[in-house]
Amino acid sequence: MNPETFQQLGLRPPLLEALSEVGYETPSPIQAACIPHLLAGTDLLGEAQTGTGKTAAFALPLLERLDLAQRNPQVLVLTPTRELAVQVAEAFQRYAKHLPGFHVLPIYGGQSMVVQLRQLNRGVHVVVGTPGRVMDHIERRSLNLDSLSALVLDEADEMLRMGFIDDVEWILEHTPAERQTALFSATMPERIRRIAHRYLHAPQEVKIQASTATVLSTRQRYCQVNAQHKLDALTRILEVEDAFDAAIIFVRTKTATVELAEKLEARGYAAAALNGDMTQQLRERVVEQLKRGALDIVVATDVAARGLDVPRITHVINYDIPYDTEAYVHRIGRTGRAGRSGTAILFVTTREMHMLKIIERATRQKIEALPLPSRQAVADRRVAQFRRQVEEVIAAEDLAFFNDVIADLEGQANASLHEIAAALAFLAQRERPLQLEPASGPDIAELNRPRSERPPRENREQILGRRREVAEGKLVRYRIAVGREQQVTPKDIVGAIANEAGIESRHIGQINLYEDYSTVELPADLDSQTLNILRRLRVRQHPLSIQLAGENEAPEHASRGRPGPRAPKAAPRWTKDAATPERSKAPRTFPPRGRGPDRPPKPARPRKPSGNK
Ligand code: AMP
Repeated sequence: MNPETFQQLGLRPPLLEALSEVGYETPSPIQAACIPHLLAGTDLLGEAQTGTGKTAAFALPLLERLDLAQRNPQVLVLTPTRELAVQVAEAFQRYAKHLPGFHVLPIYGGQSMVVQLRQLNRGVHVVVGTPGRVMDHIERRSLNLDSLSALVLDEADEMLRMGFIDDVEWILEHTPAERQTALFSATMPERIRRIAHRYLHAPQEVKIQASTATVLSTRQRYCQVNAQHKLDALTRILEVEDAFDAAIIFVRTKTATVELAEKLEARGYAAAALNGDMTQQLRERVVEQLKRGALDIVVATDVAARGLDVPRITHVINYDIPYDTEAYVHRIGRTGRAGRSGTAILFVTTREMHMLKIIERATRQKIEALPLPSRQAVADRRVAQFRRQVEEVIAAEDLAFFNDVIADLEGQANASLHEIAAALAFLAQRERPLQLEPASGPDIAELNRPRSERPPRENREQILGRRREVAEGKLVRYRIAVGREQQVTPKDIVGAIANEAGIESRHIGQINLYEDYSTVELPADLDSQTLNILRRLRVRQHPLSIQLAGENEAPEHASRGRPGPRAPKAAPRWTKDAATPERSKAPRTFPPRGRGPDRPPKPARPRKPSGNK
């Protein structure tokens, strides 16, 4: 039987209290399936994508089993990237809010070793880290794993893809054999299966259900959008969608239902929340208001929307991606009712694209891409509506009095009829501007376009700027021992350097790929710690063996002082390879990263409050 509540899963009150505060109503399917096994101390092999709730699926039971009095690390979570390490550590912190004295520590390359050592010395219960840095700490004996009772490999296939899997195996070899192990992976390539077979003891296998169903009367589309742009994306879509009458918007938490409904109301929509915290009477009232058109949008959790049947719903918006295909099919069944056609729109972040494929497979339907409407598209729509309103007023209203007012105005104000009309249009649109805010930054439609569709990021100015940096010695070219032969991509190289050595991708310059090596431009003032990490780094399981290009210098040499302002002037020693025609024709050149994954997100654009019209 599927546990319906977190209580039924047997979690202790402080955890339940924290879950209620973060607004989770019910366990997601992966949580309902994993938590009992992990509570029982069993090993687990979970095939789960981002978005299924897998973090809480391992964090909650491991917190439940923690001995807070014991201050040596009891749980170690390995993640492929530092972003994920931080996210997972934050999730542990959130769920452990009411566990007094609980400590979790994210550790990753690029962060000060001194700070990490101090925090480790102080005592932590859970460590979440990237493989490289965890290895460093194990080797220096600063991470004592004698008391380790559980180890989690999160996004194991990503760790494989990024070339960290040997490090992961090394870590598995260096942890107490009697630990409990959970491995989560979106896909199960052979190598991961082998690792599971070798290091997991009689694991329970958990996979999210891919129930198949056809949803014929609903047009399905998806929109790739960053989490921080979802609200803007939603309002743009609502503006330009044809045949919009009423919508149900699905979010994950009760808190999110209230927050989003309030934001939509502030933007002029008749919206309300529907969640499990509301009394039955209140919920019925909301549904009734939606039915009779007093509300156009209801923002709901899956539980609260169960059984909702309102024929006027034209749109289902999956603002937060559902946990599994069953929930998806359920959700989109709220539209296209009573023989009408409906539209379902799914918001997907880059990390959730896996889930999209799974939904497509399960529903046996292609979900069309919906490009985010641009500022211009929204403005065009508003202008068209405005024109229609003007035409309707001219056709239907008695304007005699207003004709006189304008005639007077024309005589007195030294202005043409055109100018007067433009001024009136300006006044009329104040509440709902015909133009979206003046371009104060890139359009979100641009920011959310898949990378492959974006225009080249580097302009001439930037290229010159970067060349200047090389000439001034701010960037130095390094040679790394991986190239096309090792099937690495610039993304792999940037990913490894950014995540493990903590060099922000925007500080990584040009990358040239050759047959069996590449060159990469890095800041000249790297400290010895970062250089040490770089020296040990592997990409796609191949050591980078990084050295200064053209001078046969290992980075540690540079670390004694600085690599110095030595942009390679003469032909570097190794350029003979590049010059050998059959080996390497023109190298593939990749410009520096414009907007890397580790760049701070752009602040939300300021918005004029628009009135409730
Ligand atoms: P994950 O798949 O672990 O990356 O989780 C995806 C998102 O779902 C995160 O924002 C979580 O906070 C949220 N989440 C996880 N479990 C639940 C739940 N039971 N109810 C509501 N939201 C959840």
